[in-house]
Amino acid sequence: MNYKEVVDNNPLLETVAKVAQQTGLETYVVGGFVRDLILKRPSKDIDIVCVGSGIELAKAVAEELPDKPQVNYFKNFGTAQIKAQDWELEFVGARKESYQRNSRKPIVENGTLEDDQNRRDFTINALAISLQANNYGEVIDPFGGIKHLEQRVIKTPLDPDITFSDDPLRMMRAMRFATQLKFDIEPNTFESIQKNKERIKIVSQERITVELNKIVAASVPSYGFKLLFYAELLHLIFPEMVDLHGVDVVEGKAHKDNFFHTLQVLDNVAKVSDDLWLRWSAIMHDIAKPVTKRFDKRAGWTFHGHEDKGAKMVPHIFRRLKLPMNDRMRFVQKLVRLHLRPIPLFRDHITDSAIRRLLFDAGDDIDALMMLCRADITSKNHEKVKRFLKNFDVVERKLKEIEEKDRMRNFQPVITGEVIMEAFDLKPSREVGLIKTAVREAVLDGEIRNEIEEAFAFMVKKGKEYGLTPVKTIKELS
Ligand code: ATP
Repeated sequence: MNYKEVVDNNPLLETVAKVAQQTGLETYVVGGFVRDLILKRPSKDIDIVCVGSGIELAKAVAEELPDKPQVNYFKNFGTAQIKAQDWELEFVGARKESYQRNSRKPIVENGTLEDDQNRRDFTINALAISLQANNYGEVIDPFGGIKHLEQRVIKTPLDPDITFSDDPLRMMRAMRFATQLKFDIEPNTFESIQKNKERIKIVSQERITVELNKIVAASVPSYGFKLLFYAELLHLIFPEMVDLHGVDVVEGKAHKDNFFHTLQVLDNVAKVSDDLWLRWSAIMHDIAKPVTKRFDKRAGWTFHGHEDKGAKMVPHIFRRLKLPMNDRMRFVQKLVRLHLRPIPLFRDHITDSAIRRLLFDAGDDIDALMMLCRADITSKNHEKVKRFLKNFDVVERKLKEIEEKDRMRNFQPVITGEVIMEAFDLKPSREVGLIKTAVREAVLDGEIRNEIEEAFAFMVKKGKEYGLTPVKTIKELS
């Protein structure tokens, strides 16, 4: 296999090759770029390895390039980076690595191309394209990486037990590449992950979560979670999700397997949205089912309150997984809390008031909530699914209609606590809260419009019920 033309047609690579040959530095393109080139996947990151100083090579290349781009160094790692046009070139000297038991940080020495290929995680990531004059453009493939790309398998170049024990993050990377590329993991490699799973404990949570998020962002994320589950890595990094697995049967009544259901919901969401946090909402939507599960002779299996309990679990799980504790977490929490809310709307006659309430509670996240809710329909009974989805369309139409008419999404009641206190000359008290809620409910029920005249009159009427008389008129309010 020869990629001479690819090198010649890429002005950056051509320059690297020219400089390498002039300076006599043995230089190669390695890793993800070569893999993606063979797979015909677009890639803008190029890793360059030379037998010598990567930093010196980067400096010489930058000098040769038209705009003389800046070279960023990472002296500690011996790497240098150039950003040119929309490409990112990373230069490093070939290295040999050796590991100690308690750290995934290797002892690094200068090495040959062979040493450098030996330290790579998978055969498909250990391919190199030569930029030397004698074998220009040729792919150097010591471990059968090209064959494994054709066979679509992830395999370690050396003994997997050593590869994974040295740097256990590679176990997560194996799962991640398999999911992104839709590859199998070669049986020996997979067994070694099962065997070495406990080693994941020496990897920082941040790095584990980077890989986990890449799995969540893939086109069929369930595949990665199944791999994690069968390797029992999921048990160590996300036990709450494993607890969803399994079916209990009492008096002949079974509930569905909530692990596989969750994965299907996740895949359904992934088909319609790239939003990472909507995908996390799918992962978490039933997370409290195991802890709320009860069996009742008449009702069968119930999971009462799993949406509220689940919402409470979200921050704990986010904190442990080092996911952001900001509005993204709150978005996931909100969707978990509300995920059952649209369902009653499909059954009975839909009232405008029920629709208004949902719009009010979901706010700008209504579309995401409806996506999650639609994805949650995973019954094996096709007729049931069809009927449900038909009703779904009706509810979505109605949501749109009411939103256009009443603008409920970001509805701010005109009668605030301050208005009530001023109008009745009250201090903060229970009555203020009761009146405020009553006015909001009247607006949501469509009894009054959210407009000062009508809402003020309603407030005065409500106040009377508590023996209150206003001391100000609308005009006198500040
Ligand atoms: P992507 O950009 O999609 O993540 P990539 O293969 O370029 O794919 P990087 O994480 O940028 O992934 O790594 C670049 C190359 O460095 C890999 O192809 C692999 O050869 C090597 N590599 C990265 N991390 C490791 C690791 N933990 N152990 C061994 N080799 C690694």
